[in-house]
Amino acid sequence: MSDVENARHKERAQRHKAVVDAKIAAAQEDKGLLLVLTGNGKGKSSSAFGMVARTLGYGRKAAVFQFIKGAENVGERAFFSRHPDVIWEKCGEGFTWETQDRERDIAAARAGWEQAKVALADPSISLIVLDELTYLVTYRYLELGEIMPAILARPAMQHVVITGRAAHDDLIEAADTVSAIRDVKHAFRAGVRAQEGIDR
Ligand code: ATP
Ligand code: MG
Repeated sequence: MSDVENARHKERAQRHKAVVDAKIAAAQEDKGLLLVLTGNGKGKSSSAFGMVARTLGYGRKAAVFQFIKGAENVGERAFFSRHPDVIWEKCGEGFTWETQDRERDIAAARAGWEQAKVALADPSISLIVLDELTYLVTYRYLELGEIMPAILARPAMQHVVITGRAAHDDLIEAADTVSAIRDVKHAFRAGVRAQEGIDR
């Protein structure tokens, strides 16, 4: 790079830093956040579990509720469920959209939700992950009218992460941070089965 280019680069970087610094200085609020990780791309649950690691790193407690059978045998569960500051629940029997027994699935979803509600009332838990919760709403196993009040009434500093495809508009509206992960490519479609440490 020429001297002129270097000088321009430095000037741009300084201007950018000033803007970012001003935004950081302006963001002074602390609050418990509601995050929604949705979309068809890979990376929703693993991102949520990454926030469990972050939380534990500060010596805080986390709780994970897994609502879908089949999704529960992930490496993170084997790792985190041994940790004294983690509650990790496979909800009831779990359910899948493949099952023929809707009544049993609804009962399992409700039992899981009852456990999650206890955590949502416990200020000692800093982070709650409601993994694949969106399907409970999609399949009408649980109404948003039942879910939202417990989430909105949680302790002021408690964070909640909801994962799952096709998040309901009301959930997105209520959330503070929403990411929709786009499916660009997935190895599964090239015939690669789920790999330990990556997909589960
Ligand atoms: P991860 O748990 O890897 O973060 P996710 O939570 O975003 O994934 P889910 O819809 O819960 O995605 O599906 C979990 C499993 O399905 C994982 O094994 C993941 O690799 C796989 N998967 C996710 N998205 C896709 C996709 N678009 N095509 C095929 N398989 C997918
Ligand atoms: Mg997932």
